[in-house]
Amino acid sequence: MELSRLARGLGGSMIREMFNEALKMEDTISFTVGEPDFTTPGPIIEEACRCWEAGMTHYTPNSGVPELRQAIAEYHAGDLRPDPEREVMISCGATEAIQMALFTLADPGDEVILITPAWPNYFGQIAMCGAVIKEVPAREENGFVPDPEDIRAAVTDRTKAVILNSPSNPTGAVIGRETCRAIADLILEKDLFVISDEIYSRLTYGEEDYTSITSFPGLRERTVYISGFSKMFAMTGWRLGYAVARPEIIKNMTKLHENGASCLPAPSQIAAALGLRRCLPEIERMRESYRRRKDLICSLIDETPGLSVRKPEGAFYAFVNAKELCKKKGLDSKGLSMDLLHKTGVVTVPGSGFGSCGEGFIRLSYATSDENIVRGFERIRAYVDR
Ligand code: PMP
Repeated sequence: MELSRLARGLGGSMIREMFNEALKMEDTISFTVGEPDFTTPGPIIEEACRCWEAGMTHYTPNSGVPELRQAIAEYHAGDLRPDPEREVMISCGATEAIQMALFTLADPGDEVILITPAWPNYFGQIAMCGAVIKEVPAREENGFVPDPEDIRAAVTDRTKAVILNSPSNPTGAVIGRETCRAIADLILEKDLFVISDEIYSRLTYGEEDYTSITSFPGLRERTVYISGFSKMFAMTGWRLGYAVARPEIIKNMTKLHENGASCLPAPSQIAAALGLRRCLPEIERMRESYRRRKDLICSLIDETPGLSVRKPEGAFYAFVNAKELCKKKGLDSKGLSMDLLHKTGVVTVPGSGFGSCGEGFIRLSYATSDENIVRGFERIRAYVDR
């Protein structure tokens, strides 16, 4: 008997592939996984411990504990202004919220537009719905910001939704207000849904204020806003995310979530609520370190022959153009990442893991110490000069 076509057809991500390959080696320096190197702020950990000790060990409501939904509504009082009862759903990481949003919006055969290079999970998540991926490449010369006209050209009668991710993993691109407005107009004109993954929205470094697509008239109603605690409070291992959308969408996402993850532990949710109310200055502190590391890594990249980078404006990734180096070594980006790992112990992710237009690039996460960045580049430099 054969296993399902879906399971057999789904590939793993190159991020994990590189991560696993690196586990076989000693003395590696990793620029791989997209997770803060900070520990969750102390007050959040203490609150979770208090909850566990108080015996909060039971099932919780499917859409999340009221304390957290209320805290999210307060946190978004200046923008989304959600009704905490009907417009917020807590999920197992932003990952699950995106999956539930896709299941809720797209039928098998529907098309979903994905701006690439993109976080690899989107590819698998769209496939899990039986929907069809329409890739719209964001070009390096535009700072990896999508061109609304390219999105327009990809829309067909079968298009159901567009996934936006600003700031972007892997490019660090942030969609500015005017481009966002043009995309919003297109969404209304073509009567589409948006899944807006804004998990990195607190981590921006540009001059312009951050713009959410939900801020344009008519867009809040047709957008599933996705965020979570992984990047904001360095809570990747807690597996806590959320979605905000109009009641009909949240009601249906919650039905699906009930059948999948069911619910999340009370202590993590109550501790995350405390984080939103008391720990926002911690985010600012972490953002300042990422900003410093971004400047450090970008200057080291610029000093390395054969590599160049567009300065990322958000998140904590540098999407490095390594086309010259690939040519010099006679390798594609996957070959280059593997060669770099095997010869120097430096772990990177090949750009081709984020969509075919990522070929010739490598992604470096700078959510790591200054010391690692400097040591990593000493090795990269020696490899390049070899
Ligand atoms: N969206 C993007 C763009 C991400 O980079 C990630 C994590 N790498 C996620 C969603 C998932 O985050 P979570 O840990 O909340 O599932």
